[in-house]
Amino acid sequence: MKNTISKGLLFFIPKSVVDWSSKIFHYVYFQRNPTMQIVFGTLVLCGHAIVVIDIFPILYGIYHDDNHVLVPMLLLFLNLLAFYKLCNADPGEITQNNHALFISIYAFDGVLYKKKTVCKTCNFVKPARSKHCSICNRCVHRFDHHCVWTNNCIGALNNHYFIAFLLTLIMMCLNGFYMALRSIIAIAHFSGMVHAMIMESDGKMIPVSLSALVQNMELHMVIHSS
Ligand SMILES: [Zn+2]
Ligand SMILES: [Zn+2]
Repeated sequence: MKNTISKGLLFFIPKSVVDWSSKIFHYVYFQRNPTMQIVFGTLVLCGHAIVVIDIFPILYGIYHDDNHVLVPMLLLFLNLLAFYKLCNADPGEITQNNHALFISIYAFDGVLYKKKTVCKTCNFVKPARSKHCSICNRCVHRFDHHCVWTNNCIGALNNHYFIAFLLTLIMMCLNGFYMALRSIIAIAHFSGMVHAMIMESDGKMIPVSLSALVQNMELHMVIHSS
């Protein structure tokens, strides 16, 4: 099935394009590189630029003193701090020097983790609950996954930064959604749109419905105010 799809795509797309796409995909997702870190930083900063340029003027113009400008900025600072620490922290890399320490932490259960499993790349017995990251080319204690967004493994020694990063990211998104929703409701309410009348195809005027109101705000359709 997969081969059939690949052959079908190759029929339409030049082989050179497929080869280059494959190389780029392999570079971004299977080699250590900062591409997704740059993408993440750009998305977060552009998102906050929209908040500052588009949403703050609406909220401050309508609610005046009833805003919390520090909340999104504080969340941005905490998120970028957690991101920076996560990108640069040691996830729990196992080396020849600290191998004895890591192998003594967890017992081998004989099922998932066997005493004689050797990492051929690192050339030592794999400590229980460790895994070799093929992208970073190292064994990591309590390996969780390799995160392309941070260009780092997530392991025992940096997973607290990972949790902090995710929590602040979720809070940032929820706060952004709240501010955007608040500004949309404020525009609808204070512009009088909620009391508007809309003209049907037969010329009859009816009170604007919620769906028509949302459609108007999204698509800038003409609504005849009463
Ligand atoms: Zn290894
Ligand atoms: Zn890794």
